[in-house]
Amino acid sequence: MQVALKKQKSFKGGFIFRRLEGEPQAKLEDAGVPKRLHVLLQQGQPIVKVGQRVARGQVIGEGGPALCPVHAPASGVVVEVGQREGEGNPTPVVVIELDGKSDFVPVQGATRDVERLTPEAVQRILHEAGVSALFHEGFPSAEGGSKLSAANVKMVAISAISTEPFLPRPAVLLDGRVEEFAAGLRVLHQALPHARVVVAHSHAERQLFLDVERALGCPSWLRLHALLPKYPQEHPLVLTSTLLGLRRVPLSPAKNGVLVGDVQAVLHAKEAVVDGLPVTERVVALGGQAFEPTGYVRAKVGTPFRVLVEGRLKNPQLACIVSGGLLRGRRVADLQEPVTSTTCAIAALPLVDKAELLGSFQPGSRAVSFSRAFVSALLPFARARLVANLQGERRPCVQCNYCEDVCPVGIIPHLLSKQVTHNLVEETERFGIFACIECGLCSYVCPSKIDLMADIQSGKRTLLLEKEKYDETA
Ligand code: SF4
Ligand code: SF4
Repeated sequence: MQVALKKQKSFKGGFIFRRLEGEPQAKLEDAGVPKRLHVLLQQGQPIVKVGQRVARGQVIGEGGPALCPVHAPASGVVVEVGQREGEGNPTPVVVIELDGKSDFVPVQGATRDVERLTPEAVQRILHEAGVSALFHEGFPSAEGGSKLSAANVKMVAISAISTEPFLPRPAVLLDGRVEEFAAGLRVLHQALPHARVVVAHSHAERQLFLDVERALGCPSWLRLHALLPKYPQEHPLVLTSTLLGLRRVPLSPAKNGVLVGDVQAVLHAKEAVVDGLPVTERVVALGGQAFEPTGYVRAKVGTPFRVLVEGRLKNPQLACIVSGGLLRGRRVADLQEPVTSTTCAIAALPLVDKAELLGSFQPGSRAVSFSRAFVSALLPFARARLVANLQGERRPCVQCNYCEDVCPVGIIPHLLSKQVTHNLVEETERFGIFACIECGLCSYVCPSKIDLMADIQSGKRTLLLEKEKYDETA
């Protein structure tokens, strides 16, 4: 195993999370269909009216030529068109009361005979099905929506590695769907025939991806890369730097001719181009100790989170719900928030009201920590626990440099944090504040409980506001 690990490519910094309690069980179920779907239009404005009947797949929102359309996830009648808090911002919403009928409007041009389609035709279908928006910085097409032009894409990198706690595991997403995934990769190749398609996976799942490669007949345009499962390897910028062997994490994969997508994006690409299905469903991992049972659900876009978590929370009053991964995710204030085309995980962590007395020194403690001061570090095979509370108060920096050691972009989080909190924010640009990819590792490992990432985010916001003001007055 050691030899295998050494052979795997990686990056400087980062952190390998040990096995945690509450990891989603590898069991995929249907979430069920609620009476109403609340479809957030993150990329546009509604084009339907209250009282209008819509079929599954019908376009209900558009945002102009550069943005992908949004589709009705099921057939029914529009009962509300308005605004909703979505992913932290006010967002247009279309509420559809479902009628149980199965009428369906497929994406135009979809065909099983993908190889007959021109690259431009495949790109257009991916745009019209809403798949383009699932790729970091957008999948290129004549319709727009990407920072890259098709001719400039040298590599399509598929992140099939999951290193952040409670994100979906590729092996679960691909259970029984290897052929479909292979067909999705073929679709991407058809769209960008001159680009290499690279699937980055963990060594533990190598056999799965060898099966994918075999299903495609081991084509020369496909490469498999085993990477060390170290967080945040799946981040598009970190993945680009690892695959290209760059010394520094770039500010944009697009500038290096790299287009980054994930496993679900590839499956959606197949469904769009072969089956005519726009993005109307997501597989969502449900992990965390406050769930019983954990697992995976297939949910229609627009399904309120409440429907997914109901009956699974051990104690709904004492659970912190997070959408996305535990480090990069966002706390959910209202369970009416719906699944969107990018939702992939919901975590539920117990809220505990008191700190564990001398938790670090109790034999067998299962507290998670980067520092080896925790006894848990000596028990790497025991499952560790994560709760939502900060165990202890913020203290002064003890110059341990853990934050610097883990930072994947090679900046100095404790220095930037001090500059921000001491009103020296203009100094931070020189020390690379804009290189921060907001992975959250520095805050996670800090033994003094300093929320370094929050300080850095605040510094970036201040600098951007100052730049805006300067541009306005210039
Ligand atoms: S949040 Fe930013 S500063 Fe902190 S470790 Fe991640 S990249 Fe580095
Ligand atoms: S991890 Fe925390 S205590 Fe250690 S150097 Fe960074 S800010 Fe200071």
